[in-house]
Amino acid sequence: MKLDILVFGAHPDDAELGAGGTIAKEVSRGKKVGIIDLTRGELGTRGSAEIRDKEAAKAAKILGIAVRENVEFADGFFVNDKAHQLEIIKIIRKYKPEIVLCNAIDDRHIDHPKGSKLVSDACFLSGLVKIDTKMEGDGQWQDAWRPKVVYHFIQWKNLDPDFVVDVSGFVEKKTEAILAYSSQFFDPDSDEPETPISSKNFIDSVIYRARDLGRLVGVEHAEGFTVERFVAVDNLDSLI
Ligand SMILES: [Zn+2]
Repeated sequence: MKLDILVFGAHPDDAELGAGGTIAKEVSRGKKVGIIDLTRGELGTRGSAEIRDKEAAKAAKILGIAVRENVEFADGFFVNDKAHQLEIIKIIRKYKPEIVLCNAIDDRHIDHPKGSKLVSDACFLSGLVKIDTKMEGDGQWQDAWRPKVVYHFIQWKNLDPDFVVDVSGFVEKKTEAILAYSSQFFDPDSDEPETPISSKNFIDSVIYRARDLGRLVGVEHAEGFTVERFVAVDNLDSLI
């Protein structure tokens, strides 16, 4: 199955927190979107890998995405090496996305910048014809494929975006998808330990950031992204 947009997150819930509004909007525009979780988030203080699997499936249904996979790298300990890059290359060549979204380039959690660089490197390498990979399952050789662009979402740290996407009208869906991860976020009835993301302040701040980025560009809500390379436009009208 070919996808238009493939979103990679180091942990289940990263994609929703960083780009949930954009994903919901692109799905509503008829785009085929997939999410690949790099780990099952098994080191998370709250919940468990099994609980997070179920929450991720629920969030995927809410967002209406076409596919969600988990490559089950080791939470906290995965590295950006040849073996991990090859696994990501196989996924990129399987789904042939034009656009890839991935973790923040700099963040509090060490897996976020690490996952960001791993996915970005794999997107480049995936375009090299002399790297041979086989499809899981049927063992077919895969063709080289390089996504046209790689954009990084913004997570814990307030990074300055290079561009924002107007997600007005899609923040309710983003919030609903985030709250599908009931083990992770604010729940006054939970007796699990507090974490940096389980406070009411955190979930409020995610919504507030969308509102604030929207304010800066004159829309209701927006999500910000950074780019690693110059993005080309067809002509000056393209950005109006
Ligand atoms: Zn994360």
